Amino acid sequence: MAKITALILAAGRGKRMGGRVSKQFLEVEGRPLLTYTLAHFEAHPLIDSLIIVVPAANLDYCREIVKKYSFKKVEKLVAGGKERQDSVYQGLKALTAETEWVVIHDGVRPLISPFVITQVIKRAKETEAAVVGVPVKDTIKMVNSDLSIAQTPPREKLWQAQTPQVFTKELIVKAYQKAKELGWQGTDDASLVEKLGVPVFMVPGEYHNLKITTSGDLVFLREKLKEKDFE
Ligand code: C5P
Repeated sequence: MAKITALILAAGRGKRMGGRVSKQFLEVEGRPLLTYTLAHFEAHPLIDSLIIVVPAANLDYCREIVKKYSFKKVEKLVAGGKERQDSVYQGLKALTAETEWVVIHDGVRPLISPFVITQVIKRAKETEAAVVGVPVKDTIKMVNSDLSIAQTPPREKLWQAQTPQVFTKELIVKAYQKAKELGWQGTDDASLVEKLGVPVFMVPGEYHNLKITTSGDLVFLREKLKEKDFE
């Protein structure tokens, strides 16, 4: 069976919520936020191993978390880089030869559901590359530097990309190598694969799969964790 590795990105230093702790390590109901995310992948039957990308300064702390919460699938902890893209690159370098599929997920999306993980892996196996997303609800505008509106793309065609984003190892490694060579930058993984000219397929996900960013998101997360489904 093809080995599937989840690359969990937790090397951001964002402290937008005002505190001194990076978002992924914030205590939520007595546990670091990242542990909720890791638990979904640890428990998922299609995931064989986990590689976690963390800030170099937090490697020891993360090793303790892995031990304390008994995450058995963790293969490696890797130090991340300056931007998300650099962190993914470091994670890809740490993959072992046995891995055939890579499931890239933001450590700060703890509300991902097992069903959606299954769906995106299934679609990637049919197509080579698939990402989770949701149709946009608002009308999206492209604006000029003076904030005058340049364009209104048709809403029916617009989706918000989330994670997980799933690819064959060969494809995603090629995309990241090419990005490094040619200086491509993307805010998600799919955009680099798109630049190679390879089609990536959207898989309908869930609106609550938020990237926990603001204190409002944190309030939402606490509420969700109280619901039975997320215990
Ligand atoms: O930066 P952004 O909020 O989009 O982060 C999305 C995910 O990428 C987070 O889980 C964050 O920890 C991770 N990240 C990273 N390395 C960086 C920046 C972000 O692993 N340099």
